[in-house]
Amino acid sequence: MDRTEQLIDLVEQYGAHNYHPLPVVLSKGQASKLWDVDGREYLDFLSCYGALNFGHQHPFLVSALKNQVDKLAVCSRAFYSEELCLFSKELADFCFLETALPMNSGVEAIESALKIARKWGYEHKGIAADEANIVTFENNFHGRTITVISFSTERDYRNGFGPFTPGFKTIPFADVNAVDAAIDANTVAVLMEPVQAEAGVIVPPAGYLAEVAKVCRHHNVLLILDEIQTGLARTGKNFCFEYENATPDLLVLGKALGGGLLPLSAVVARQTIMNVLGPGQHGSTFGGNPLACAVGRAVIHLLQEENLCERALHIGETIRVELSRAHLPVVREIRGMGALVGIELDKNAGGARQFCEQLATHGVLCKETRENVIRLAPPLIIEKHELAYGIEKVIQVLKRG
Ligand SMILES: *Cc1c(COP(=O)(O)O)cnc(C)c1O
Repeated sequence: MDRTEQLIDLVEQYGAHNYHPLPVVLSKGQASKLWDVDGREYLDFLSCYGALNFGHQHPFLVSALKNQVDKLAVCSRAFYSEELCLFSKELADFCFLETALPMNSGVEAIESALKIARKWGYEHKGIAADEANIVTFENNFHGRTITVISFSTERDYRNGFGPFTPGFKTIPFADVNAVDAAIDANTVAVLMEPVQAEAGVIVPPAGYLAEVAKVCRHHNVLLILDEIQTGLARTGKNFCFEYENATPDLLVLGKALGGGLLPLSAVVARQTIMNVLGPGQHGSTFGGNPLACAVGRAVIHLLQEENLCERALHIGETIRVELSRAHLPVVREIRGMGALVGIELDKNAGGARQFCEQLATHGVLCKETRENVIRLAPPLIIEKHELAYGIEKVIQVLKRG
């Protein structure tokens, strides 16, 4: 038995079984590369679902982390920290908004945005107590807390976890009229992903986001955009909403905001909206800790200094061109935006997972999303020859399908 098998046996016995990982046990990462406990080398084509836009152990981010860990890591929000003060302004500016509320995980920031939107509805729209509703979309993914799965349409995410939080309406994605029809006098917000990544990289038609923003404005309803996965250069712009000049009222960030080093999420909003929160009404012990804020500041700096958006576009374009040129019979459609790519396989191909398993044995790591879609999301710092190698392996494996 090799070390890989030993360790998997261990966690199968002592861990919870809420994931179904590929049988690879990683112990080291560097830029776009990973190594497992038996010394095998891999190329990372998943980037932790977008948390690793800058790759593993980016030297600039690691040095920001190390400097800060030697100074002050955690101090609670009972006091101000230098890093929190600076990060709040820098993040708000970077997002074309006015105020920022740092949290830890993505879903925690989503929950925070929902609380802010409801309170805004009661205070600014005069909605009767406990009557607020929020519009969400079929096939959404915003995380795993009970409130957030309350408006999921995935059976596995919900079954056995009720009772659920009321106050949500779920409508079809990519249909502007459905948004207009769903909004009523008690609607406070529309919560949307600009691209539905978990659902299989579903890209709505051009103009949709701008139209939704217009409908929201018309009805005095807040637009909450979940850019946890699409944000921070992944789709070829720092934010997906820039493609349509549709700056949201509340923007939710996570994943890459922590530089691939630690959890960091945030709600970024206009001041009049954020100001509905007063002392004692929301909080999180580790939210906005100095260590995370120092990394977040370094992430913003990196995004401003390096041309990661251009690289994202180049990566996505290269993948699409090469895969199309290979004329793979198992491939039904290649979708995506920038370096977020979904390869939808034929229903008869036997599911996407087996291809991801085969790819892992060829040294390329990626993961299926839903039954028949392979998601490719390489780190944006990936080298040309690494990208070419990874694509070659993807084509090789899919050719056999
Ligand atoms: C990952 C993700 C989340 C949840 O983030 P966690 O950090 O896992 O809680 C929410 N929304 C989208 C779009 C995501 O991709």
